Amino acid sequence: MSFDADAKMQFLFALRSKGVTDKKVLEAMEKVDRGAFVQGYFADRAYEDMPLPIACGQTISQPSVVALMTQALRLTGRDKVLEVGTGSGYQAAILSLLARRVYTVDRHARLVRAARDVFDRLGMTNITAFTADGSHGLPDQAPFDRIIVTAAAEDPPGPLLAQLKIGGIMMVPVGQSDAVQSLIRVTRTETGFDYDELRPVRFVPLVEGLGKD
Ligand code: SAH
Repeated sequence: MSFDADAKMQFLFALRSKGVTDKKVLEAMEKVDRGAFVQGYFADRAYEDMPLPIACGQTISQPSVVALMTQALRLTGRDKVLEVGTGSGYQAAILSLLARRVYTVDRHARLVRAARDVFDRLGMTNITAFTADGSHGLPDQAPFDRIIVTAAAEDPPGPLLAQLKIGGIMMVPVGQSDAVQSLIRVTRTETGFDYDELRPVRFVPLVEGLGKD
């Protein structure tokens, strides 16, 4: 399967029907070939609106969820963004077209290496991927204009809240890992944090410490 005109049309139709309306987000979703981030058995399902398995027992998120989370981040094009949960690298690649600088971290070194290779191949030079436990954020690069967590936390992690600029936005799925979680948008104000509950989602859990591979 290739991301040809037909595949693109169906892909974008699915996104629009799920509530993705932001033109820039739709353009980015059209530009980045999800097929580059899915290897092996499931490669021919890359353009379907469903999550798919990747290495290390993880998943590449459903495209409509990637697009809706990106849309809810309200990127300006000048943002420094932290993503926790690189996975395949697909979400980071979408962000790289809409933000100034993207830092992405995963607890699995193997996933980070594979994602870096794809970023290099696609010439995405504004993404830096690290192997790290992202629940501590990335203190050396903080603070961030935007933070996106693509694994489910029981509460928005304190270090991530602390690394968000005033006026900054964080998207995080909150809830138990074996249940449906709520996608929360946190906005940092001068005096504290505002929380909006956006929609139900299902993510793999945010796990402490580094993975074995
Ligand atoms: N955004 C990814 C999908 C993420 S799946 C994509 O576009 O493909 C969730 C990822 O979060 C997994 O790869 C998992 O290894 C990672 N993860 C879980 N807990 C983590 C932690 N504490 N720090 C960093 N990454 C973590």
